Amino acid sequence: MPLITARDEVLGVYADAARRGWVVPCFGSENLTTSEAVLEAAARHAAALGIPDLPVTVAITAAYPHRSQAAFYTHTRDVALGLRLFLADLQALTAPGSPYARLRVLSHLDHAQHDRDRELLEHGDLGPWSSVMYDASTVPFADNIAATRRFVERRGRATVIEGACDEIVDSGDGGGDLTTPQRAQDFLAGTGVDLMVANLGTEHRASGADLRYRDDLARACAAAVGGRLVLHGCSSVPPAGLGGLFADGIRKVNIWTMLERDASPALLADLVENADLAAGTATTGQLQARGLLGSQAPTDRRAALSHFTTAHRQEVVHASMVATAMGFFRLWYR
Ligand SMILES: [Zn+2]
Repeated sequence: MPLITARDEVLGVYADAARRGWVVPCFGSENLTTSEAVLEAAARHAAALGIPDLPVTVAITAAYPHRSQAAFYTHTRDVALGLRLFLADLQALTAPGSPYARLRVLSHLDHAQHDRDRELLEHGDLGPWSSVMYDASTVPFADNIAATRRFVERRGRATVIEGACDEIVDSGDGGGDLTTPQRAQDFLAGTGVDLMVANLGTEHRASGADLRYRDDLARACAAAVGGRLVLHGCSSVPPAGLGGLFADGIRKVNIWTMLERDASPALLADLVENADLAAGTATTGQLQARGLLGSQAPTDRRAALSHFTTAHRQEVVHASMVATAMGFFRLWYR
């Protein structure tokens, strides 16, 4: 079915997921390969469950300074063009005739910045977005509430809005303040958002070695604001800690780093194992002479279309991302 963007229909998807005890995964994407991998994983899990219209969210950031995914969607590095390409791809992938047309697909504008993305947020077309995260988490709490409230008043009748109660920092930036139930309650009362990101101990782009997802805090916050919590920084939580998120009051989880982090080693291994097919005998010979490629690496076959094309490299990345995404679907859609 076409992208679900009408506010009441998007809220209906979340209400249905809650009735089934599902956490809705929201996967970040900065290229068509990632978007397709997410939908492919959803379709495979939908077939396994016998529920063809599983919901799945695909997200992208605009001018988010920590990672402008829209800029990476196009080699022009033009954010507005990247956003249009992302949405056009999703619209094509959900149109009749697509293998993914039976899924319920949501588009999410992630980490939209109250200052850098102001033009888009105040005057842009938010029609093709199922939900928008309004992120003013870097300004003082009272100012964050006031700015988010104004955005909800301006756009909240048409669009599902996710607010950022507290900042989720990048790995190594010092953790940030954890969300307390009182802060969560004040944020909800002051803004009227549909969903809210709370700082529950996770970090963006962290490996998880020193972090602990605070399930106790999640449950306390959920008791204060109801089932509307969103968890970011999911790649920093060991998978064993993610199975009980629904019971903790989490309704949406954002995932991106892990998709990319797991795909890169898969691509490296494939290129090394097929070094000659990918790069030809001259290059593999030079790499061996420099000690960068071992003696076991194949070096005597000619480079071949089967391995030196962008299509092949994307295929390896796609396969890895499908496997990673399916791990999350199995965890949360049962
Ligand atoms: Zn995030």
